[in-house]
Amino acid sequence: MRMKEFGKLGFKTSLFGLGCMRFPQRRTAAGPQVEAGEAIKMIRYAIDHGVNYLDTGYEYHQGESEVIVGRALRDGYREKTKLATKLPLWRVKTIDDCRRILEEQLRRLQVESIDFYLLHAVNAERWRLVQDLEILAFLEAMVRAGKIKHLGFSFHDELSVFKEVIDAYPWAMAQIQLNIVDAHHQAGVEGLHYAGAKGIPVVIMEPLKGGRLAQTIPQDVLDLWAQAPVKRSPVEWAFRWLCHFPEVTVILSGVSSMAQLKDNIGIFTRMETGGMTGDELALVEKVRDLYLSKTKVPCTGCEYCLPCAREVAIPWIFALYNDIFIFDDRDGAVNRYRELTAQGKDASRCIECGACVAACPQKIPVIESLKAAHRELTGRGV
Ligand code: SF4
Ligand code: SF4
Repeated sequence: MRMKEFGKLGFKTSLFGLGCMRFPQRRTAAGPQVEAGEAIKMIRYAIDHGVNYLDTGYEYHQGESEVIVGRALRDGYREKTKLATKLPLWRVKTIDDCRRILEEQLRRLQVESIDFYLLHAVNAERWRLVQDLEILAFLEAMVRAGKIKHLGFSFHDELSVFKEVIDAYPWAMAQIQLNIVDAHHQAGVEGLHYAGAKGIPVVIMEPLKGGRLAQTIPQDVLDLWAQAPVKRSPVEWAFRWLCHFPEVTVILSGVSSMAQLKDNIGIFTRMETGGMTGDELALVEKVRDLYLSKTKVPCTGCEYCLPCAREVAIPWIFALYNDIFIFDDRDGAVNRYRELTAQGKDASRCIECGACVAACPQKIPVIESLKAAHRELTGRGV
């Protein structure tokens, strides 16, 4: 397993970090249920094969993930790992909420201390909340109390917000979404370099864009990958591209089966940093351009259009619309849109108030684009 120094913290972590948000599930009458036994086996298999970074979160699998990770880390496994979990800022109204959530997480995880405690999914609005409530002062007190070792944040917003957050605090790490398609989306490669220049290790999430770069890959994309002299799977190309950046410290992969886990471990065991040639990097750019040329709506997911008074899930609807064309994933997109419809968040709820159009920095004609997305996702007009 490829290991890297974790900044200046004085220890090494595996380049492959196990994301604990997509454990295997089975369908039951009460909804999807995590296969806890299999998930525990997978966590221990990963640790036995050199993975020493686990990433979970308060919300993952409706709270089950932290419980399962806690069970997996018994019997001597805790000592072999660095454990990261996150404070769900959208559940925080007061510092007492922070305290209650942290105590619950320590109980669920059955640990005395969490190695990396992250502010979860920081954006401009949540960053204001962190400042208004002085959440970092509280978390520093928890560090002094020995309940947390290091502070970091995960991020979903524009690059300018990322730079503001990076500049505001001596973070132990930052976690960003990055993959071959999203190189210039949210923090992106520029944000990666920005954090790296300040000596802040970067942990990567969504390296396979929620699995879309691993499944249902369009034939024209496969044809491009086939042009490379060295044959590798699209998954291996995606991981190799990330490893090329020296600032990338851990790459989280949320595997859903033992077979995927073994495949990932194999890739990371073969991998060296700096291992991409100029021709290979140019090929990745071609693949990115091809994916992006299929984009129907240039929505960046910044969420400035939210909240919508009618609860229309604007960026998610655009993501599903794009998925049909970018990832050939019509069935998946249609199914996910049905779920949004059942939650009353689909485009048919729009009353054309125009608030989202005025708020969109990308100047997207949101109302018309929502109608087009709805037609494509349902086969009928709103
Ligand atoms: S125009 Fe429609 S989608 Fe946009 S904010 Fe108004 S109701 Fe929501
Ligand atoms: S529609 Fe515009 S404002 Fe809303 S998430 Fe997309 S880019 Fe951002």
